[in-house]
Amino acid sequence: MTPASSGNRSSAHRPGPLDPEHVLAATYALDQSYVRGLTDQLVATSGTASRLLAPATGQPLGNIPTSTPADVLSAMARAREAAKDWGLSSFAERSEVLMRLHELILDRREEIMDLICWESGKSRIHAFDEPLHVALTARYYARTLDRHLAPKRRDGVVPFLTQIEEHRTPKGVVAIISPWNYPFTMALVDGIAAIAAGNAVVSKPDHHTPLSALLGLALLEEAGLPEGVWQMVTGAGRVLGTPMIENADYVCFTGSTATGRVIARQCADRLIGCSLELGGKNPILVLRDADLDRAAEGAVRAAFSNGGQLCVSTERLYVDAEVHDEFVEKFVARTKAMRLGAGHEWGIDMGSLISAEQLTTVADHVDDAVHHGARVLAGGRARPDLGPYFYEPTILDGVTPDMACHADETFGPVISVYPFTTEDEAVDLANAGDYGLNAAVFSRDNKRARLIANRIKCGTVNINEAFSATFASLDAPMGGMRSSGIGRRQGAEGIHRYTEVQSVATQYLLRFGPHWGLTDEAYAAVMTGAVKLLTRLGRA
Ligand code: NAD
Repeated sequence: MTPASSGNRSSAHRPGPLDPEHVLAATYALDQSYVRGLTDQLVATSGTASRLLAPATGQPLGNIPTSTPADVLSAMARAREAAKDWGLSSFAERSEVLMRLHELILDRREEIMDLICWESGKSRIHAFDEPLHVALTARYYARTLDRHLAPKRRDGVVPFLTQIEEHRTPKGVVAIISPWNYPFTMALVDGIAAIAAGNAVVSKPDHHTPLSALLGLALLEEAGLPEGVWQMVTGAGRVLGTPMIENADYVCFTGSTATGRVIARQCADRLIGCSLELGGKNPILVLRDADLDRAAEGAVRAAFSNGGQLCVSTERLYVDAEVHDEFVEKFVARTKAMRLGAGHEWGIDMGSLISAEQLTTVADHVDDAVHHGARVLAGGRARPDLGPYFYEPTILDGVTPDMACHADETFGPVISVYPFTTEDEAVDLANAGDYGLNAAVFSRDNKRARLIANRIKCGTVNINEAFSATFASLDAPMGGMRSSGIGRRQGAEGIHRYTEVQSVATQYLLRFGPHWGLTDEAYAAVMTGAVKLLTRLGRA
């Protein structure tokens, strides 16, 4: 690619809707019996369908039936019925299904990546992250669900005589609402933890990307998940979201902060729990002792993976003034060397954005910044020559608080670079704004970097890595602070959120309350003495 590197205002390409004549004339990119095999799994009886188009080329992919609120109710009813047996299944049965899923996903990764590339327009290398992440998640919970869920002994009030255990029971039916950016991963990983905990799931993938989610569902059933345990509906969130939330026992949502707030309010009304994985405006700090080549490579992946349409991707880059120019030179050179393209083959660094709406947001943010005086160091242009929604990876300099891209999430391939002079200033800058999802610190001094990490108010912090070290470490929780969300996926938290905790106590010999002919007063005196004795013995 040949990104513009001038400071001139970009001539942004504003796409209209794809030309219907072109769409009708084009042949379907996918075998339609394959697509029907996938969509037949949907609970969708409206008789209406929407045409799904490949964002990278505009080619039609298939017709996707639309679900209605009534379909949601029947999906919920089926899931609730299926949850009865599944909730009683042994840990070994659940674990077997998940291990088979792990193997199936790795074996069928090429098919999965092809579908993801068609549906999302991303490059193959970024599509690969998805089967990998889902396979690892399935294996993680297959191997650890016993550890996370088995009853745990707790200390009883009277040593030896009160035996108490903490039990975890499934919530029942979990509603999962997911976005389009990682259509296979986001539609599946949270549900995998939910079924591992013995719940049934009703999920709604984003309407841009239902096929990847449906392929995941087909693989789950092939792996042995009993029929009915996972139901899928598709359509607009504002139509299907409310009946999902009104009938679920727990809601897991991934998407924008604005929608997350709506969902949190609805869950609060029903007094049901929810986890909300929301937006970010993630910072990277490059300290003066950083390996600048490593930091530049990390910054490229952090900013432009999946065209920046990644919740944990970086849009703010703070560099120590002492190494700022040297770092920026390396970062710009690597960015300009990126290969853009619409193909599904390996070797393409960045693909298309998902939609006209995303392209418009990206172009608006860059245009607004340039209009208010920012400089474009790389990129800054739409690329209609490559496909309808392509935009170059873009680096901005001189961004100020009056510009939209300063604090608002772009969710695209746009990053702003700022110098800092002290570490305190860098930490304050990193913590500015409302979001708190992910951050990265580049430094050769790991101890110092960890101290800085502790001061950053983000749910995950990566040292000498952009985001993958935390995102792929499935035994550790992942999620956002502040406006980036509530709750965590992955690790113990990722499965415990789908359970109710029940404490079961068995009392031996000693009863509570006055007995053996003791008066109330004598009973109180005996109990007080016992408590003091146990405290002295260190038993309570
Ligand atoms: P979005 O909130 O518009 O849509 C996400 C999902 O919510 C879709 O399935 C949509 O149909 C549904 N939805 C929309 N309105 C709804 C409503 N009123 N009730 C119920 N469901 C509704 O988000 P988006 O723009 O499609 O996705 C991008 C956003 O997602 C970005 O902000 C990104 O940062 C965030 N995201 C966060 C994470 C994370 O793990 N924190 C991961 C991926 C994406």
